[in-house]
Amino acid sequence: MPITDTAKSLNQYFVANLYTPENNQLLDKNHDLIAACIEQCIETFYEILLPDPIGAQFLSSAVVETHLKTELKKWLLETLSPQYKEEDYQAMILKHRHVGAVHARVGVPMTAVNHAMSIIKNRFYELLYQVSDLPATEKIAFYRVLNNLLDSSLTLINESYIDDHVTQERAAQEYRSRSNAHEIAIEVERIKASLFNWISQLMSGLLTTSQTSHLNLQNQEFALWIRHKIGYACQDEKTTSKIKQLVDELQDLVNRLPDSDPVQRRQTIQQITELGNECGWLLGQISERNIDNAAREDTLTTLIERRFLAPILKSETKLAINSKQPYSIIMLDIDDFKQINDIHGHQAGDLVLSQLGLLIKRTLRITDYAFRYGGEEFLLLLPETPIENAQILAQKLLKAVRQLEIEVSNNHRLQITVSLGLAPFNEHPDFEQVIKRADENLYQAKHNGKDRYEI
Ligand code: GH3
Ligand code: MG
Ligand code: MG
Repeated sequence: MPITDTAKSLNQYFVANLYTPENNQLLDKNHDLIAACIEQCIETFYEILLPDPIGAQFLSSAVVETHLKTELKKWLLETLSPQYKEEDYQAMILKHRHVGAVHARVGVPMTAVNHAMSIIKNRFYELLYQVSDLPATEKIAFYRVLNNLLDSSLTLINESYIDDHVTQERAAQEYRSRSNAHEIAIEVERIKASLFNWISQLMSGLLTTSQTSHLNLQNQEFALWIRHKIGYACQDEKTTSKIKQLVDELQDLVNRLPDSDPVQRRQTIQQITELGNECGWLLGQISERNIDNAAREDTLTTLIERRFLAPILKSETKLAINSKQPYSIIMLDIDDFKQINDIHGHQAGDLVLSQLGLLIKRTLRITDYAFRYGGEEFLLLLPETPIENAQILAQKLLKAVRQLEIEVSNNHRLQITVSLGLAPFNEHPDFEQVIKRADENLYQAKHNGKDRYEI
């Protein structure tokens, strides 16, 4: 993470004003008091945050207990400990910037970060006030040091937050505008077909037996796509929220079907058809608009570039927390790819990469995302997919890759294998944690002999 000019001048400020010999001495002398206050500040902090509607969006009490309390405690203790060397100031600056980046990644509003800091500061103030064995002058001096340290750290957090937030927003916008309009149009047409297919299956099921397998609309491919991907196909909020609303209304109608009498039933079915048609018509509009845009584009979309990962994962993490439907991640790395390059040349290597990209796209669901994560590493993001289903996909992928034959030169066909690391979303609001675990599992898969997956 680059340290910007502001951070450099703040660094000067750190050196000159914060960790001075006198301040260091105060921090050192009162270390135990600080540690005790921090414990209580953290309790108060989460007592306020957990029931708060904004806090609750990002936090579950389990994650707070297992991770966040420890992280916040460690960070506060480090911030309020004496620092003596230039490297230590530098390390502190990077730590504060890291905190800002994590909050941007998770999508915690900056106002909430600032508000949280004021909760901590107020609690500190109250606790210090109650301490009886410190002279008032020393209390004031001590509180000033704490206050300055926390303010400076907050400045750094805010600065890095803005940097990261802006980068992610830019990437998200670019992803929306660059997604290949022609491919999107085809995707929307497929979704429309899946909607109409569902309606006709529903009808025939209802007219013959009392079969109910189609009654859970939210599990249908089109509903899943509308929940996760419609925003990339259509930027017009009015249309997308209308479509989402129609899906909810359809589900309401469908829920009423099993208990209704024949007359009501006929009416409800009539309404379902009408709403379904309206939804299909709107989807048709989206696909037409994309076809118009396609005329102005010439690039062929391959897999999604890595810089689009953060904004997409951020929004999927939010969806997973709100809907309680976890996603899974698969990290994929080609086995012994260096050898392929060495024996058959880089061009052959590139061909392998593009063929594998196509295979991945073919194998995934329409609502999944496939990113090119590194040179020959891919990250697959599977919304609303518990880890058991990700395992099924992993087996399918391993098999499909083994069967893939790539013609690298005249009549020379190459075969490859890949290794996979799987990880489920575990309610931690910072998605980097899931990536890290998938990466560790990928490493395990390599270690255990390759051409396999590990969870
Ligand atoms: P392992 O089974 O442990 O993964 O062995 P490996 O040889 O695949 O090792 P690693 O994953 O570290 O190899 C990465 C190699 O992939 C390094 C580089 O030469 C090659 N590579 C990365 N990107 C590209 C690319 O875009 N084109 C080509 N042709 N080769 C690439
Ligand atoms: Mg690799
Ligand atoms: Mg490799």
